[in-house]
Amino acid sequence: MRIIEAEDELRTAVSAARAAEKRIGFVPTMGALHQGHLSLVSAAKRECDLVAVSIFINPTQFGPNEDYDKYPRTLNEDTKLLAGEDVDLVFTPARETIYPEGCSTWVEVEGLLTRTLEAAQRPEHFRGVTTVVAKLFQLVAPDVAYFGRKDFQQSVVIRRMTHDLCYPIDIQVCETIRDPDGLALSSRNQYLNEKQRQQALSLSKGLFAARAMFEHGERHGDALHVAVQAVFDEYADVSVDYIAIVDPETLEPLETVVDRCAVLIAARVGQTRLIDNLMLEN
Ligand code: AMP
Repeated sequence: MRIIEAEDELRTAVSAARAAEKRIGFVPTMGALHQGHLSLVSAAKRECDLVAVSIFINPTQFGPNEDYDKYPRTLNEDTKLLAGEDVDLVFTPARETIYPEGCSTWVEVEGLLTRTLEAAQRPEHFRGVTTVVAKLFQLVAPDVAYFGRKDFQQSVVIRRMTHDLCYPIDIQVCETIRDPDGLALSSRNQYLNEKQRQQALSLSKGLFAARAMFEHGERHGDALHVAVQAVFDEYADVSVDYIAIVDPETLEPLETVVDRCAVLIAARVGQTRLIDNLMLEN
């Protein structure tokens, strides 16, 4: 496994892979890797000839009062995990590689996709995400890029950007990996103490309550919302940012679910902001 920091070295490795007609799979991450990230790597290993993973804690997707400074930095452990998965290439760019001196170009998806839900609390977040992913796509030039459904809105925004910018990249969205008790794996779970971790189960319990109602035939957005809220009513220490029942492509709120919907939740447990979601389909 090669660990590459320099842009020119990365370009040489990518050119060699292209010349050998290798199908390149790419998994962008911010490190602090867990089984959720590794599930994306496994999918890439199955479907591609060369797997590249990037580790870059992207400063522009964090708001001024967010956790950029304390975000876990575990590069040694991360590279060991990736070596164990037989990853070919790990790209760990320096900040100046991604944001050179004087950098003033942004990539931004406009419209509801980047105004609603997460964006209401984190107005600059998606601009940071699309800018870094667009740059990484330029550098790695993958055939397929893998993202987690855990960050549902992000995956919708990335699909939009990829299509709009005519990148010839297939975007694959992989299922959320959870702990056995339901908690979605997240690098931010490290911030939780044992009591908070129990409270964090409110998110998946809320989603599972909505799923149970859906399976019993409930199709009213409001009723599904009430079912999720009822779970949170039992968790006084958890503060809900939003519960939303939306169209999975447009993110428009749904009064009535026809074929499918996404149930999205964001909530704070102590200082830690968590998100989770579930797709419900006929
Ligand atoms: P991050 O390092 O948080 O930027 O995440 C890198 C990628 O891993 C993103 O595409 C995430 O959606 C994905 N990811 C994070 N957590 C999970 C999870 N529990 N299951 C599946 N994918 C995940």
